[in-house]
Amino acid sequence: MAAEMKTNPTTERYTLADLEKWGEIGGDIDPPIRLGVLGDPIAHSLSPHIQNAALRACEIDLQYARFHIRANELRSALLFLRKLDFVGINLTVPHKIAAFTQVDEADESATRAGAVNTIKMESEPCSHRPAAGHASNQSGANWTAHSAVATARGDKKLIGFNTDGEGFLRAIRTEFSIDLRDLRVMIIGAGGGTGRAVAWQCALENCERLVLVNRTLAKASELADKLGPFFTGARVLGPAARLEAIALDETALRAQLPEIDLIVNATPLGMNPSDPTPIPARLIAPHHIVFDCIYGSSKTALLRAAEAAGARGANGLSMLLYQGALSFSFWFNRDAPIETMRAALP
Ligand code: NAP
Repeated sequence: MAAEMKTNPTTERYTLADLEKWGEIGGDIDPPIRLGVLGDPIAHSLSPHIQNAALRACEIDLQYARFHIRANELRSALLFLRKLDFVGINLTVPHKIAAFTQVDEADESATRAGAVNTIKMESEPCSHRPAAGHASNQSGANWTAHSAVATARGDKKLIGFNTDGEGFLRAIRTEFSIDLRDLRVMIIGAGGGTGRAVAWQCALENCERLVLVNRTLAKASELADKLGPFFTGARVLGPAARLEAIALDETALRAQLPEIDLIVNATPLGMNPSDPTPIPARLIAPHHIVFDCIYGSSKTALLRAAEAAGARGANGLSMLLYQGALSFSFWFNRDAPIETMRAALP
């Protein structure tokens, strides 16, 4: 694998075994890999496309790569990364929630969601503050000390952020020319790392209505308890409660969907082209707007169902772009070259 990596490093997938001997492997790669995304699966990730375009545009002589890290390998991967000269990483499925317990500090966006999609590695004790415009600037006390993992002397400190919620907010504006605050939103997979971040963003934006749907209902109910204070005022005309948690069950979905504008898929269902829709296609109506956090070359079954129903739909490419731009701004304390990043997308 080492010979291939030298020819085209950022299209390769590295593994935990590669991280373990990164001194041998990474040493030959020029520009050096100092950033990456950890996930399983990971081959589909377009983060290297946008981040490497941004690095080149900003004349930062580093590269960003994919790391295929399984759920049970995350802790070891982060321990190796602490000892390496990395700038930062992104986390994708299935690591966002587990990563929250592994970082040393978390900003407010990560603490709220209990999930991390961006880590910045710091050598010094953290004096860092989030970049301008990030949701965590909204209050003074933004930082949570974790110290869940003991760090050896000289190890990097891991600072966790979550850029998914704000990336989602911007994506909805871009794709549908509408603000979250005007929408009645249903999140499928609300108990997952992405679903939680999206739900918090909906609450912070004071959206009209929020229905949290999860296969494991208890996780959606727990989140609803936390978000309750955001939904106490009456905004919607009619009897529907502004905040509800329901199971991923056709009868419950059927009862909610007439009072919903935006349906969000935050489950991994659709990552494989053969995956079914996360909700029955027959429940989607022309008045719905469907946002699938998944992106890929082919349309997911959910987006095909939306099209067939005459509903508007969009995949997660613009969310990828905006969350990635925010990650870049945390790593380098500067604005990301967003148009260059957009142009790097397929
Ligand atoms: P995660 O933390 O593992 O959460 C998965 C969620 O989906 C959980 O709520 C889980 O329910 C549910 N789920 C999993 N398998 C399911 C199934 N077969 N049927 C029904 N529900 C199921 O994953 P994540 O990191 O949030 O990622 C979710 C998806 O969002 C991934 O496809 C990821 O690529 C995508 N994403 C895209 C972007 C972007 O920039 N476009 C950003 C973030 C995430 P339980 O709680 O019951 O297990």
